[in-house]
Parts: sequence; structure tokens; C-alpha cells
Amino acid sequence: MKRQNLHCHTNFDDGADSPETMVRAAEKAGLASVGISLHCPIPGEEAWCCAPSDEGTFIEEMHRLRELYAGRLEVWCGLEYDLDAARRSVPPYDYIIGSCHMLSEIPFDYDPDTAAHLIAYHGGAAYTARMYYEKLSTLAEYPEVAIVGHFDLPTKFNERMPLYDTASKAYRDAAFAAMDKLNAAGKIFEINAGAMCRGWRTSPYPSEELLRHLKSVGGRICISSDAHCAAHIDYAFDQCEKLALSCGFTEIWQFDGRDFQPAPIIE
Ligand SMILES: [Zn+2]
Ligand SMILES: [Zn+2]
Repeated sequence: MKRQNLHCHTNFDDGADSPETMVRAAEKAGLASVGISLHCPIPGEEAWCCAPSDEGTFIEEMHRLRELYAGRLEVWCGLEYDLDAARRSVPPYDYIIGSCHMLSEIPFDYDPDTAAHLIAYHGGAAYTARMYYEKLSTLAEYPEVAIVGHFDLPTKFNERMPLYDTASKAYRDAAFAAMDKLNAAGKIFEINAGAMCRGWRTSPYPSEELLRHLKSVGGRICISSDAHCAAHIDYAFDQCEKLALSCGFTEIWQFDGRDFQPAPIIE
């Protein structure tokens, strides 16, 4: 199996490097294909989302890179929805990752203080988790969304600042219900190393318990690093593959330009 990373960011949103630098890094790392997943523009959230006026330039640049790398590396132009900015149309993007970064208009994965503020604002972690998972599960209603991004994102800071009791019945019930609904809608779940790249976590999303549950209900996975710089283009892929195998998965699903196909995970 040759690796593919469909979740990367660039200086068109909150990433550090240009699309060309990211694509060059993907080729150097030996990936078979790479997709840049632009943070969909959201009014007032230009600190981490693409500015609406830059979106056309991004798409043109991705098409230029696809031509430039033809025959060497497959280059895809993707979009990462936030549920606050879903559009219900795919073209001109090749694929769409569906994510939820905001609750009550607060981008809660920004830092631990913002995450704690959100919980205080909602009056508790159990209620906040339920809100998040209920909102995330509405991605099931968007047929154009292929991949669910960083499924348990609220736990981003939990290793250093335990905000959510992930062993509690309330949390687990909410997470499992969302996972079941999204899986029934045919969504692919990414094993995402984004919080590892940034030093917040030592393991990927979703948690091992959630991955084991996903396997038990016949779910599908892909692997991404959610890279925000070229150095992280294939960050922790080894660890993600080992985790997938240890949870019983034997294949991941890769985009071929039209659809997703299974590929065996090689130990
Ligand atoms: Zn995201
Ligand atoms: Zn992302």
C-alpha cells in the first residue's frame, strides 16, 4: 500500500507553507497521492479559514500543481467543511472532509482556555460533549461529505488538561451514537494525527475505544496527518497504521480521483 494524505493545510488558511511546498514534501516522503483540504471560508473566521477572495486562486494553484506533477504524484483539491459553513456542492473540489470546529460560534479547538471557556459557557462537559456529537452527526445529512474529520476533536487538550471524562457514560453514549449514525450514512472516519503534530496528544483521533467500536460496526477508515506544515506531511503514519491494525482494521480507504477504494495495511 502506498500512502495517501488527504488532510493538509497551506498558507491559504492556517497552514505555514504554500501548496507547492506541501506537494513537493509529499513527493519526497514517497506518498502516492496528496490532497490539500482548504478550510472552507467562514465570515469572521479568517484567522484559520480561507479568505473568500483567495478561494479562486487556491483552486487555480491546485490545478496547476496537478498538471505539474502528473505522472509523478496524484494531487487532489479538497475542502474541509466546517458545519457552520457547509455548502452542499462538491465541484470544483475533488472530495470533502466534514468537520465541526465550532460550537455556539466558538472555535473550541483553538487552545485549552478557549476549550474550557466553551464548557463553562454551556454549563458542563457532559452537555458540551453531547452538543458536539449531536452537531457532528448531522454530517450524515450531507451526501457530498466523504470523510469525517478528527471525530473526537473536543478531546484535543485532554492529555494535558482533562476537560472531558471520556470514560463516563454520558460521553461514551454521545460519541457512540454519533459514530453509529455517521457510519450508517457511509462516511469514512479518518485516523488523524493533527493534535500529535502540534504536541497536544501522543495518540491520534479517534481514541482506541472509539476505533474498536467503529470496527465492531463495520466502519471504514483512512489515515491523515492534518499537516499544517511540510515537515508534517506524513507525520505519525506508522503509529496510525499500527493503531488501525491493533483495533482489527486490515484495510484503509483511499481516494482514486472518483471514489474511495480499499487498500491493505501492510505491517
Ligand atoms: Zn479540522
Ligand atoms: Zn484540517
